[in-house]
Amino acid sequence: MKRRGQTWRELACKLPFAGLPFGLCGTLFSVQEIKDWREQEQNAARPSGLDDFYRSHGFCWSCRSRGYAPAPVDMDGNLPLFEECEACGGTGSWIHPTADTDVPSPS
Ligand SMILES: [Zn+2]
Repeated sequence: MKRRGQTWRELACKLPFAGLPFGLCGTLFSVQEIKDWREQEQNAARPSGLDDFYRSHGFCWSCRSRGYAPAPVDMDGNLPLFEECEACGGTGSWIHPTADTDVPSPS
């Protein structure tokens, strides 16, 4: 029987940074780093919402960079099943090629 959707584990291993420690949702940023960014943008009178953070860093806002739609589409026993995010094709993230040095190393 074909399942609809996949577990988050199956989807998460397709992410470009699979295996790395996650920061907030699917990003590599810590909550504190995001707070700092928002404060900095607010002080500069620029858009400082969480969605602005995601967009300006190239993260998929629809799925909060998880790579899958946040609402389960089905269940496999007790395991919720998710479908790949349509907006980003399941990558969860768009990382700019030149932004590598801007990504904080996971610690
Ligand atoms: Zn997405």
